[in-house]
Amino acid sequence: MLHSDTVAQYVEERDRLQRQLAHIGDFLPGSLQEMRRKCGKPNCRCATDDSAKHVSWAVARRVKDKVIYRAVPAGALDETRRLIGEYQRFRALTKAVSDLNEKLCAARLAGVRTAPKKKRQGTGP
Ligand SMILES: [Zn+2]
Repeated sequence: MLHSDTVAQYVEERDRLQRQLAHIGDFLPGSLQEMRRKCGKPNCRCATDDSAKHVSWAVARRVKDKVIYRAVPAGALDETRRLIGEYQRFRALTKAVSDLNEKLCAARLAGVRTAPKKKRQGTGP
């Protein structure tokens, strides 16, 4: 494969991914975490039965070395799940664009390095 073909393919693929990035909607960084806890009422079943603990949801997000939790409001679980899904799509796309840029720049830089050799015609294969 010719060097210029490789670069052109990388550029085409990167542009395609960047167009997808432009269509990313609102997103919520983090991951969904199920929280199970006792409510503290002595007469509640959760006080004696671990399987009866109260379930709530939070968005967990790592900030530096700490994980912070943000409660998901009642009724907002589906929308939260969608927003986190959009975040994961954003992360995957930015990683793919970054990986492609790395390949693209490496291919271009390799082309720069090999360019002066073309002056010595007849000595190469
Ligand atoms: Zn309870």
